Amino acid sequence: MIERYCQSCGRMMREEQDYGREGDGCRNENYCSHCYRNGQFTEPNLTRWQIVARILPIWMKEKHLTYRDALVDANYFISSLRRWHARQIWT
Ligand SMILES: [Zn+2]
Repeated sequence: MIERYCQSCGRMMREEQDYGREGDGCRNENYCSHCYRNGQFTEPNLTRWQIVARILPIWMKEKHLTYRDALVDANYFISSLRRWHARQIWT
């Protein structure tokens, strides 16, 4: 089974229902069902910083990181995702 990271939020997509959907019902290989639905982003105005802020507490807990380390790691990871790749650091 192929595991992919959502290219918006970094969530792991394992099952068929984890994938986002195009308007015609086909699955989108790049984005998860939370981020992408009916052929568009569920939160089109979402910023990279908002995504980082969401995963920060999860990473601090799961990886036993300090706030500062989690911030650096999370920002680095999110920045590598397709949706945010070409954008400025804090936008
Ligand atoms: Zn996602």
